[in-house]
Amino acid sequence: MLPPRNVSIVLGSAPPQELMSILMSRDFRSLKQNEMTGIESLRRVLELECKKGHADKAVIGGLDQYLHRQADQIRQDIEDPQLLREFDELNLGNSSYGSWGTDERRRWIAGILDWLDKLERAKEGTSVPRHAQDRPGFPSSGEGSEVGAMAVSEVRQEQREVLDLPVTVIKGITPGVADKFARLNVRTVYDLLYLLPRRYVDYSRRKPISELVVDEEQTVIGTIWQARVATLGNRRGTEAIIGDETGNVRVVWFNQPYLAKSFRTNARIAISGTVSEFRGKRVFESPAWELLKEKELIHTGRLVPVYPLTQGLYPRQVRKWTKETVDRYARQLGEFLPAEIRTRCRFPDLPAAITQIHYPDDRTLAEGARRRLSFDELFLLQLGVLARKRDWQEGQPGHALCVDQEVMSRFLHSLPFTLTRAQERVLQEILADLQQTKAMSRLLQGEVGSGKTVIATLALLLAAANGYQGALMAPTEVLAEQHYTNICSYLSRISTQEPSLRPGSGQGPELDEEIIRRYTGFLSRTLTIALLVGSLSGSAKETLHRAIERGEVDIAVGTHALIQKEVAFNKLGLAVIDEQHRFGVVQRSALRQKGFNPHVLVMTATPIPRTMALTLYGDLDLSIIDELPPGRQVVRTKQLDPQDREKAYSFIHRQVSSGRQAFVICPLVEESEALEAKAATREYERLSRDVFPDLKVGLLHGQMPSSEKEEVMRSFRAGELDVLVSTSVVEVGIDVPRASVMMVEGAERFGLSQLHQFRGRVGRDKEQGYCLLITEKVSPEAGARLQLMEKVHDGFVLAEKDLELRGPGEFFGTHQSGLPDLKLARLTDLRSLELARQEAMTLFQSDPDLKKPEHQPLHQRLSRAWSRAAEWS
Ligand code: ADP
Ligand code: MG
Repeated sequence: MLPPRNVSIVLGSAPPQELMSILMSRDFRSLKQNEMTGIESLRRVLELECKKGHADKAVIGGLDQYLHRQADQIRQDIEDPQLLREFDELNLGNSSYGSWGTDERRRWIAGILDWLDKLERAKEGTSVPRHAQDRPGFPSSGEGSEVGAMAVSEVRQEQREVLDLPVTVIKGITPGVADKFARLNVRTVYDLLYLLPRRYVDYSRRKPISELVVDEEQTVIGTIWQARVATLGNRRGTEAIIGDETGNVRVVWFNQPYLAKSFRTNARIAISGTVSEFRGKRVFESPAWELLKEKELIHTGRLVPVYPLTQGLYPRQVRKWTKETVDRYARQLGEFLPAEIRTRCRFPDLPAAITQIHYPDDRTLAEGARRRLSFDELFLLQLGVLARKRDWQEGQPGHALCVDQEVMSRFLHSLPFTLTRAQERVLQEILADLQQTKAMSRLLQGEVGSGKTVIATLALLLAAANGYQGALMAPTEVLAEQHYTNICSYLSRISTQEPSLRPGSGQGPELDEEIIRRYTGFLSRTLTIALLVGSLSGSAKETLHRAIERGEVDIAVGTHALIQKEVAFNKLGLAVIDEQHRFGVVQRSALRQKGFNPHVLVMTATPIPRTMALTLYGDLDLSIIDELPPGRQVVRTKQLDPQDREKAYSFIHRQVSSGRQAFVICPLVEESEALEAKAATREYERLSRDVFPDLKVGLLHGQMPSSEKEEVMRSFRAGELDVLVSTSVVEVGIDVPRASVMMVEGAERFGLSQLHQFRGRVGRDKEQGYCLLITEKVSPEAGARLQLMEKVHDGFVLAEKDLELRGPGEFFGTHQSGLPDLKLARLTDLRSLELARQEAMTLFQSDPDLKKPEHQPLHQRLSRAWSRAAEWS
């Protein structure tokens, strides 16, 4: 077991004065005191001194004074007697650096730095942290030793602390780098251990260029002869010629013109991907790549991990860091799976699994590690879901509502349409739930426009008629406003709106009808509906909070603002959550806790196949509206080649001149949201300058602050923009009645479900909607997949196809907020799913609260996985 270098400081020795002043100095601003040992800070000081030209400027008060004071402290960090002797020979405690000339100073410091290197190499070999060995009960030889439960938990505590250290404890990870890791949600050593490779490059499959085979994944290592920005099928990309001793090959990267800049002629590069044939010549298309340093032999002959990257993190560095992290810390991961399960399933232990998933010795071990770790994910997911379901069903009783027939029929009769059969059925399912004393937990699925909101509105009114409050939560402000307006317009058919509240009404400052409206004539009392979103002024928010708390608001529509801790409902009886996939279990339970176990209805327009719904939303019952209101137009969908782009643009022009609006969706860039935003910005500039100079074009991407996003959506919705260029963030159910064209660039990169969501944004009016899918060069399978979009208009069918063809990772995208991460597990792998469910159920039956001592580690791990969910923390 390798020692964390900095434990002694972490455990709390205060830095001496000098060190403090370094820490405060500009160069060290970024270093944090508790991340360094004496040795480490010595190194930093000396390195800084070199940088400052050996002018004795590194430390306030001079280097000698620092050393004289620090020598003893540093000495304590050295364990090996030989090194201790050498350290004493350096005689730092009596240095006279200040009196020397520059050359002498330089040599002396270089000598110490060399010795520090040696010390560090030696340290890689040591075992348990010293202070830990001193602790009673620390197992001296790892796993097998007999220790009492107390000691175990103490040790675990210790390990936890070490694993919770910030990533900056890894050599080379500066605070700047740490920020970049933070974008991948990697903040601690633990996170870094769980930064799992997406795949491996098998450099043992390296091929000479002359022997490349079409349609096979291969790796070549060669020299860049030429790299330039090129136009590939109408769009800018990068083209390079790579050569080795046996020949040359062309490599292209679509949509990534910026790569050309990083590819210097004569640089060595490794390319890994599938070779295809284009006009009789072999070409790599958008392969994985890595620039190699001079003469570097990248781990030849082994599987090299490929990590998800973010801008500014380079594969080689990340590998170096993960390697160090795994070598040092993997063994500190405490096993949490009960031994019984591990034996039954023949899983490697956790440290071995983590080690092998990063740097597998061979494919079999990598596969074993993957099996184990993905089991972990599904198992934890299942345990959490089971516990949640039990909590909700056996926890506090819910509140039975009566179905007020008069309220029902007055509402339904006021609608300008009759419910579809599917709506009727779902309504009955919901009504049946509401009348139970057990709180409803229902997932309502149905395509955009299938009429979910009407049903939800009715349920909210029924709750109000029973004297309960209702809440409707949407993922964005624009959507919340949309719901608010819709519900108000339903209400104005059946009741009379009262004038807005005036000051002096006892309700605090005036609230205008944009955020609160009162209706009379429907219920026997006034019905109040309010809109609570984050962007309201503080005082407006407070007033609403108070009104909600006093029970003066019957229906509160809003965003996350509804589940802030300041919001306390008086008597929350029903919570409706729209667009499930943007929220998660966490928000669900947060809303639940707002009331005394309210009924919960979750609505989603993303069709989730039943098998998967069982797993992910196993705590919910399922209702499906599988029928659209009659007369709904299907959106006419066409797949287009890049050459047809001009035609598409003139089509948009024509549509806009007849009063319609258009979306242009930019290709998905998987590497990072920042790159995606960049690409969208460029597309926006190009379109507004060259293609639609006469139109009002807007831009929307995920890196914009949310207030800006909301503003853009609002003005597009209000018709102030003709064309909206957007990344996939627009997918959320925004309702723009006048939008008729959905143009999707790089359509082949999106899943069918997502494309279906996109096209659900247009043709919401009586007018015909159009969806234009622009595809770059695609494989025949991808082409066939996209052709389904032209023929199939049923979201469920498309979802099933998607799953079949692409797997669930892509199906769900990255939005699974609140659920433990599924990085490895494949939800389509029914066998694994079944195994995890079985094991979880067995365990849950024997020890539902995980109270047994042998389940303590599991209990802790479960809390960690579900940490953001209130019940487990
Ligand atoms: P969803 O929430 O599923 O997207 P909505 O409830 O917002 O769907 O309904 C979309 C539109 O269709 C609304 O304008 C609504 O008034 C209308 N609508 C709902 N149900 C029907 C129906 N049965 N017949 C005709 N129009 C309907
Ligand atoms: Mg909707």
